[in-house]
Amino acid sequence: MRSVFSLLFLLAASVTPALAFCGAHTHLDRRAEGEAVEISSFGYTGTNGPLLWTQLDTANNGLCSTGSNQSPINMVEGQFQLISGSDIELTIPDVPEGAPFENLGTNVEVVMKDVGGQFVLEGKNYTLEQFHFHHPSEHVDNNVSLPMEMHMVFSTEAEEIAVIGVYIDLVDVVSVLELHILPRAVPSNLLETIFSSVGEIATPGTSTTTKPLIMSEVVTLLKGGNFQRYTGSLTTPPCSENVEWSVATEKLLLSKATYQAARDVIGFNARFPQNNLGEPNLLAIAMAGAQVSAETPVESPVEAPANTTAVRRRQRLQKKRGTSVE
Ligand SMILES: [Zn+2]
Repeated sequence: MRSVFSLLFLLAASVTPALAFCGAHTHLDRRAEGEAVEISSFGYTGTNGPLLWTQLDTANNGLCSTGSNQSPINMVEGQFQLISGSDIELTIPDVPEGAPFENLGTNVEVVMKDVGGQFVLEGKNYTLEQFHFHHPSEHVDNNVSLPMEMHMVFSTEAEEIAVIGVYIDLVDVVSVLELHILPRAVPSNLLETIFSSVGEIATPGTSTTTKPLIMSEVVTLLKGGNFQRYTGSLTTPPCSENVEWSVATEKLLLSKATYQAARDVIGFNARFPQNNLGEPNLLAIAMAGAQVSAETPVESPVEAPANTTAVRRRQRLQKKRGTSVE
């Protein structure tokens, strides 16, 4: 155990800090027109799951088990800085011709590389690459898990990454009459539009084109709320750090029927919540615990004594009968 434990730390030290990522794993690569969608090699359950991501590619994924600023996290006070949506610059043009919508096996992703979405964070310009969905939410909203979470991934020319996380909750669809009498929350037009095509990419490795996307809805919603800012990591291998996270306090809503259609294609794709920022990686702690327990000799079970009760009973009987030979 000791050698594996040490090896993981060595691997972490040898990984290039932030963005030595494999594009196919971070969904940031640009596929040539007509090229098949590459399916992710990692997964979320069993031996492909997040407990063993480092072992899937020890040369690149060391931070998954050793990084101390890993995402997602439980968004509780003290873990983030709150900034007003009105203080950020976020522009995402509408996409009247629709955008490529792909099934990567681990996720469904809307490719936005050429749309020209911009996010300015602390004076740095990030360009929108894509957005994708997790089921259930990866971040935990003050101890509460949400049905889904959308990640809008931006990058600079130097491949620095910023991600906007938006929780997705469910809403009952009401009739027009009910809506008139009692105005209430309605499903996001953007999400309903995107997921109306999710059945077309039910098979991993397939892609389609969405219907026209009106992005102003989500931009207006996000800018009207706040963002919980922190510096974490990719939530997928290779778990690179120095990723700038902005988790929105405003939530998008989805009808239950559309949620079920999306869920049935996405499956389960949420990494477990990581330790508090700056504290040791939970997997490193778990491995240290396993090492201690492996080094503690297990007490050999006390040899079961002969069935003394039966022996005494037999002796008593023999004495009574006068047949004892002892
Ligand atoms: Zn994500």
